[in-house]
Amino acid sequence: MTDDVFVAAQKVMPGGVSSPVRAFGAVGGTPVFAASASGAYVTGHDGREYLDLVGSWGPALLGHGHPEVVEAVQQAASRGLSFGAPTTGETELAQLIIDRVSGIEKVRFTSTGTEATMTAIRLARGVTGRDAIIKFAGCYHGHSDGLLAQAGSGVATAGLPGSAGVTTGAAGDTIVVPYNDLEAVQAVFDTRGGDIAAVITEAAAANMGVVPPDAGFNQGLHRITKANGALLIQDEVLTGFRVSDAGWWGLEGREEGWTPDIYCFGKVTGGGMPLAALGGSAQIMDHLAPVGPVYQAGTLSGNPLAVAAGKATLSLADGGVYSHIDSLADQLAQITTTHLADAGVPHRLQRAGSLLSVFWGEDVVAAPVKNYGQAQRQDTTMFTRFFHAMLDQGILLPPSAFEAWFLSAAHTRSDMDRLDEAISVAVTKVSGQ
Ligand SMILES: *Cc1c(COP(=O)(O)O)cnc(C)c1O
Repeated sequence: MTDDVFVAAQKVMPGGVSSPVRAFGAVGGTPVFAASASGAYVTGHDGREYLDLVGSWGPALLGHGHPEVVEAVQQAASRGLSFGAPTTGETELAQLIIDRVSGIEKVRFTSTGTEATMTAIRLARGVTGRDAIIKFAGCYHGHSDGLLAQAGSGVATAGLPGSAGVTTGAAGDTIVVPYNDLEAVQAVFDTRGGDIAAVITEAAAANMGVVPPDAGFNQGLHRITKANGALLIQDEVLTGFRVSDAGWWGLEGREEGWTPDIYCFGKVTGGGMPLAALGGSAQIMDHLAPVGPVYQAGTLSGNPLAVAAGKATLSLADGGVYSHIDSLADQLAQITTTHLADAGVPHRLQRAGSLLSVFWGEDVVAAPVKNYGQAQRQDTTMFTRFFHAMLDQGILLPPSAFEAWFLSAAHTRSDMDRLDEAISVAVTKVSGQ
């Protein structure tokens, strides 16, 4: 039955999907077509219920369809779907963001994380008058031309160096260096310092599997960019308001006493609706039109339904939510490593706050995975077998070894017991006998 819907979808959409990783290309088989979702559970088109660790790839911090978020969206919808005029809700959501994170005085809303990072790059170029940017191999910043070089997420899953259709011009202004390698960054600045508008990085890398920044790495980027008149863009589209009340910055920059020049947010910030944002000092942000010369716009930017979902989500995401998710992540990590070790499966589980993922196989056992080259040494066929053994037991994991597992405030202790049971079975299928 589900096969039929996939066949029908593939007839009218490339791969049958609106975003590549959803197609299960890396793990094979038929994707789960979602019919509804509530709390920690997704119900498939065929009526089967799954315990969900995808969380819409991050936004579902409170669980799916939180009643107060849905209510806020319904109320907003009853007042009109889109106006193309400013609303007071945007001011309120901007203020909620500003209150959580230091270094932001002004915010621009977009509909997707891709637009937020793309705009951040253009803004950095407009502010500095320089062309080149530095990004890290394995970091994903959405699908704009200049940021697809050696990107993580779906590009990593498909094993591609980048994307067809990106001009050499667009790619040529992007300098790619290994993640967690401050010396490589310094070396680029030593030779081309005057050309570099910005360094963009995931605040904690989680699109090549979870690869946390080494202690001092982000702070080092802050120091090097400052010394060279370049901007530091921290992409917190995934980590923002997920790993703490103030995102990854709340776990690191807040302690160390520094802020990036531009932050990008998405996912949790829109509470499951299409909304993302970038923010920074007024001095930087006022380079954006209509105040400044850097153009950026969007018919649906700051959409009132998305703003309502974002406001409700951030208002509900209090300390209790983060400590609950942190303790679930501790428990899931413990369960997973214990069963994998008991079954003799070579692996390495990595964490960045409440985000976690497993790297598979002998080649990742010796030392922590610190960059994309090391992440790519994992044996994804082991993950594929694990993934399907979990799916057979009604557990939905992200269908790629290069993606983080997402928990939510709606996951419970009894969900953890179910995961414990399922993982104890799945680890016995990994070796493929
Ligand atoms: C998801 C993601 C993006 C892109 O956001 P979209 O809303 O999918 O365009 C950018 N950066 C990071 C770190 C992400 O995880």
